Amino acid sequence: MDTIPADCLKRSELYYGGKWSVPRSGGNLAVVNPHDEQVIGHIPAGDASDVDLAVAAARSSFENGAWSKISGEERSKVLLAIAEKIKDKAVKERLSILETLDSGKPFGESEWDMDDVAGCFEYYAGLAASSAAKTEVEVPDDTFKGCVKKEPLGVVALITPWNYPMLMATWKVAPALAAGCSVVLKPSEHASFTCLELAQIAHDAGLPPGVLNVITGTGVDAGAPLAEHPGIDKVAFTGSLATGRAVMTAAAKDVKACSLELGGKSPLIVFEDAEIPKAVEWAMFGAFWTNGQICSATSRLLIQESIAPKFLAMLKEMAEKVNVCNPLQADCRLGPIVTAAQYHKVLAMVNIAKEQGAKLLTGGGRPAGLASGYYIQPTVFTDVTTSMSIWKEEVFGPVLAVKTFATEEEAIALANDTQYGLAAAVISADEARLQSCTDALRCGIVWVNCSQPCFCQLPWGGLKRSGFGRDLGEGAIANYQNIKQVCTYTSSDQFGWYPSFAAK
Ligand code: NAD
Repeated sequence: MDTIPADCLKRSELYYGGKWSVPRSGGNLAVVNPHDEQVIGHIPAGDASDVDLAVAAARSSFENGAWSKISGEERSKVLLAIAEKIKDKAVKERLSILETLDSGKPFGESEWDMDDVAGCFEYYAGLAASSAAKTEVEVPDDTFKGCVKKEPLGVVALITPWNYPMLMATWKVAPALAAGCSVVLKPSEHASFTCLELAQIAHDAGLPPGVLNVITGTGVDAGAPLAEHPGIDKVAFTGSLATGRAVMTAAAKDVKACSLELGGKSPLIVFEDAEIPKAVEWAMFGAFWTNGQICSATSRLLIQESIAPKFLAMLKEMAEKVNVCNPLQADCRLGPIVTAAQYHKVLAMVNIAKEQGAKLLTGGGRPAGLASGYYIQPTVFTDVTTSMSIWKEEVFGPVLAVKTFATEEEAIALANDTQYGLAAAVISADEARLQSCTDALRCGIVWVNCSQPCFCQLPWGGLKRSGFGRDLGEGAIANYQNIKQVCTYTSSDQFGWYPSFAAK
């Protein structure tokens, strides 16, 4: 593996207006490697005064039209140039290492993320050209002509989490840029390295100054002033339910547009006709991938009673074989939790589950041989009841809660028994049952005979307290557009509503 240049780990400047600038406070935030708990660098600590400057730079770039008024084809070229730079072997490796050092995700997953980042820029480059097309719309009066015109919405604030630092940012940055918006991105203070790299990559790819601005800092100091800034036209947020509420409240002050991608407590239903080894692997992938720190994790497993003993025996055996180790190791399949605070939160939720009477099938503590780092074994609880916290609350760690069911009706009732509605998965050999479950699940994403795969061509988002709006898919560009109707009077006659005009 390549070594990481020190300037990637010790960033002391924010990026706005096409330039790198020291934050007004002059401060920075330490970055801790969750594998060994050592400080490995720092990021700049932006605050409200930096946000003001970034929003002003974004507004000025939007008004000067260097990006907002050029053709979709021209935008597409720059987005493709960004993708090309990310695909460069050395750049991809450097970004993947940075992502793993910063967030603790297994290196192989970081490499996947970088492929997805490049793929997402390519996808929205492909849509940029057609995104601004004017569409004629027939109206039932031939003295008028109707047309719908899609325009860039303006200056958008994008606030993103740490679990997929560069990918979650890209899910918003790519369609926003494709639409012609100017952007202020505030990545999570817990993993900002790759988003700062993205700023330089976009700069080098020829994105005009002020179109993409990256302000790092804490949620309180940089996120909150951005969400409530009167100079932005929309805030698109991905993160926790609690912060989502605060962001929506802030946006409401100026009646700003807002979209929220929040948490989840997604179910995976396994019927008795499933092939057990395949279903066990999907159950593990659904709960332990991204170290269990994924909004769509299928962290509630529902197994049909008749297969539960065999299924759980294999799940325990396989969970205990997961390679938990330094995430930079190529064969790592579970790395550390992102921060000390999050680590202790997950351990506290494990303890509460035990206290509330759930039975620990496997895991629950620090893996053998790892004396430091925020590591937690793959953890499975059985005998879970619907009143337990482990059933109701998002853990955001490698912790799976299991319940059994007798009938399809019961499985659906349990699956939908959640305040969230992001995703759900169902595994069965029966096509009709897969279809009826797909129809009955109250959520925005259904995985059939799998869990977690994600393609930028398919819309992503949820119902209920998982938020509203959709990232990804063709529709995501519309998140960043003003849909303008143009209605033209085409007749040469006086309109004639007022009789006195008609008489003239
Ligand atoms: P978080 O809510 O703590 O932080 C998200 C972002 O909001 C960060 O950039 C943070 O600095 C910022 N922030 C914090 N307080 C703020 C405030 N008052 N105003 C404005 N911004 C503020 O979330 P997290 O811990 O970074 O991420 C984990 C959460 O994200 C989980 O709940 C997870 O389910 C959710 N998530 C959802 C999706 C999805 O697509 N639905 C994807 C990834 C993560």
